[in-house]
Amino acid sequence: MSTQPPKRRAILVIEDETDILEVLRYNLSKNGYDVLTAESGEKGLDMANAKVPDMVLLDLMLPGVDGLEVCRQLRSRERTRAIPIIMLTAKGSEADIVLGLTLGADDYVAKPFSPTELVARIKAVLRRNEGGTGRREAEEAGMMRLGPIVLDAQKHEVTIDNSPVSLTLSEFKLLRFLVQRRGRVFTRDQLLDAVVGPDVFVTARNIDVHVGALRRKLGDAGRYIITVRGVGYRMEET
Ligand code: CA
Repeated sequence: MSTQPPKRRAILVIEDETDILEVLRYNLSKNGYDVLTAESGEKGLDMANAKVPDMVLLDLMLPGVDGLEVCRQLRSRERTRAIPIIMLTAKGSEADIVLGLTLGADDYVAKPFSPTELVARIKAVLRRNEGGTGRREAEEAGMMRLGPIVLDAQKHEVTIDNSPVSLTLSEFKLLRFLVQRRGRVFTRDQLLDAVVGPDVFVTARNIDVHVGALRRKLGDAGRYIITVRGVGYRMEET
């Protein structure tokens, strides 16, 4: 892990609650980020378009143009398409979270959140977005590792502590997808697309069967696949 201080990055916070806005402004500035704020979706979209920030923190419950629509619009415009987005969501809004992830948000943090956790998520998302593609391509061709799990993408082989694990092709694809994108939460539909392709008609719940089988085969290491209740799954070294 690098210890050098991060380059100064601009984070646009779109949030209508001024208390939360102030907490965010304080904590993000303290962590070395430049903080821009917008109190409505319209203003946020204008600001993101005028000067593309390094990240958008997006409250979903906004008056007027709501967070999901902001997300949709950011992703649909060439200029703002690649901005990493972390959604700020209310507890119990799993359906909105799933929709937001489907629209291309990178992650979400549920309110009330701890500033420490939020900053950790911001760092993780920024890290994934920098050189993430390069690493992914390198990994596509070679070896990947997560905890004791080693995955050979060329040979389609998986070992845990050097013992081979026999996976079906779907299980292998699922594991590769999650290991490559570790830390990021995916909806069941996104995982199904990755594993069986978008044209195969199976229900999203089928992914639970694949995940269950994969976890069993991974044994102890199955715990690295984390169920995100009501949303989907993420893989993480815990
Ligand atoms: Ca709000």
